[in-house]
Amino acid sequence: MKTAEIANRYLDFFRKKDHTIVPSSSLVSDDPSIMFTIAGMVPFIPYLTGVVPAPYPSAADLQKCIRTNDIEEVGKTARHGTFFQMMGNWSFGDYFKEEAISYAWEFLTSSEDEGGLGFDEKDLWVTVYEDDDEAEQLWRKIAGLPAHRIQRMGREDNYWTTGQPGPAGPCSEIYFDRGPEYGKDGGPAVDDERFLEIWNLVFMQYAIDNVRSKTEFDIVGDLPQKNIDTGMGLERVAFIKQGVENMYETDQVRPVLDRASEISGRPYGANDDDDVRFRIIADHVRSSLMLLSDGVTPSNEGRGYILRRLMRRTVRSMRLLGVEGATFPELFAASRDAMKENFPEVERDWTRISTYAFAEEETFLRTLTAGSTILDTALAEAKGSGATKLAGDKAFQLHDTYGFPIDLTLEIAEEQGLGVDRDAFNGLMAAQRERAKEDARSRKKTIADVSVYGEFRAHGETRFTGFDDLITETRVLG
Ligand code: ATP
Ligand code: MG
Ligand code: MG
Ligand code: MG
Repeated sequence: MKTAEIANRYLDFFRKKDHTIVPSSSLVSDDPSIMFTIAGMVPFIPYLTGVVPAPYPSAADLQKCIRTNDIEEVGKTARHGTFFQMMGNWSFGDYFKEEAISYAWEFLTSSEDEGGLGFDEKDLWVTVYEDDDEAEQLWRKIAGLPAHRIQRMGREDNYWTTGQPGPAGPCSEIYFDRGPEYGKDGGPAVDDERFLEIWNLVFMQYAIDNVRSKTEFDIVGDLPQKNIDTGMGLERVAFIKQGVENMYETDQVRPVLDRASEISGRPYGANDDDDVRFRIIADHVRSSLMLLSDGVTPSNEGRGYILRRLMRRTVRSMRLLGVEGATFPELFAASRDAMKENFPEVERDWTRISTYAFAEEETFLRTLTAGSTILDTALAEAKGSGATKLAGDKAFQLHDTYGFPIDLTLEIAEEQGLGVDRDAFNGLMAAQRERAKEDARSRKKTIADVSVYGEFRAHGETRFTGFDDLITETRVLG
C-alpha cells in the first residue's frame, strides 16, 4: 500500500464520519515562536485554545511537519524523520474520548476492503495516562483489549500541556508490535523500537494552573469545551504496511537512498555505518526539498540555517561514503520524483528549488575543500602534542576565515577522537560579535527599524512557550 494511499484512506474514513477535510498548512509556521510546523496541531492552536472559534465542529488533515529535535535519531532509529507527515482528526467541542478511541480502532483494524488498514488486533497495544481509568475502560469496551496490553504512563509521556496555564489533558497512544526479532517483549513501556508508536490521541479536558515544569502543575478544573487532537505518523504506518524495516525504505523516501547507493557504488545493507548515512541522506534531501518548496532558503540563521545544516549534513554524508563531487542534481531529482504525486509544487517550482539547492552544494563543496586541509593539519598537530581538544582559536579561524561551520569542526574532530575547546571558541565568537556591533554603531547606518521584530517575537513567546521538547528547534544545533 503506497504512502499516498494510506493518507487517502485516512481522509476518506474521516470524511465519512462528517469531518471537514482541511489542506496541509505550510512547514513555515504562522506562529513566530515556533520555527516550523512541528505537529498537526500547530495550525489549529487558536481553535484548540479557544482564542478563535473553530469554523467547523470536527476536521481531519494530513499535515507536513519538520522536527529538527529528532535530527540525531534520523537513520539510527527506524521511525524518526526530520520531515514527516502527520494525519490528524480534530474535535472542537464536538465528540470526545469514546468516539476518538472508537474511530482510531475502527480505522486501524477494519479490513482493507472496508477502507481501513487491516491491522491484526493482536499486534496493537495502547498506553493511557496513569489516572485515566475512563480511557482504560473505553479501550476494554471498544477494542476488547486485554488488561496487559493497556499500559499506564506518567505525565512525562502521556500528558499534553502547552507549558502554560490553560487547556491540558491526558493522552492515549497506540503502538504496533513489530515482533520478537525487533526487541524485548512487554509492551511500549519496555521497548519502543519493537513496539512502534503510531498514533497519539490527546483528550483536552482539564484546565491547569501553577505550571512549574512539563510534569509539575495543578489540575484546577474541567474545560468548558473539550477537544480532541490526534496525530498519526504517515511514514510509520507506511513502513508497517509496506513490510519494510524503517521509514526511509518507504516509497516516498527509498528512491533517494537507492540513488545515493548507486552514486557511491556501495550497496545498502552491507555495512551499518554506511546504512545510517544512506538513511540520513534520504531523509535530509527530502526535508530540504520540502523546506525549499515552502519558501525557506539557505542562510546563516533561523530557518535558513536549519535548511543549510540539513544540506551540509547530506554533503558530508556523501563524502563519508566516498563521493567528493556534486550529487544534489541527482539526489534532489530522485526526491522530487518520489514526492511530486502528492506535492505537485515540487515539480512546478523545480527551477527555483534546484537553483538554491545546487548553488548551496557548490558553495559548500568549495568551503570543504579549503577548510578540510587546514582542519586535518590542525587535528594532526593537536594529536601529536598529546592534546585532547582542538584549540578554540583554530576552530574560530576556520569559521572566520574559511566559513567552515563549527558543527562540522566538532563532527570531524570527534571522528578523530578529539574534542574542541568550545569555551575559547565561544569567547572569540562573542568578541567578534561585539566588534561587529561597534562597527555598525560607528557607521550609524539605519536602514530600517527592526526593533518591531523583537517585540513580535517576545509576544509570540509569551503567548505560547509550550511543547518544550517540540519547540527547541535550535537545541540540536549546538
Ligand atoms: P516518538 O516517541 O516515537 O519520538 P512522539 O511521541 O515524539 O514519537 P508525537 O509528538 O506523539 O510523537 O506525534 C504524533 C505521531 O507523529 C507519533 O505517534 C508518530 O507516529 C509521528 N511522529 C512523531 N515524530 C516523528 C518523526 N520524527 N518522524 C516520523 N513520524 C513521527
Ligand atoms: Mg519524539
Ligand atoms: Mg512518544
Ligand atoms: Mg507521542
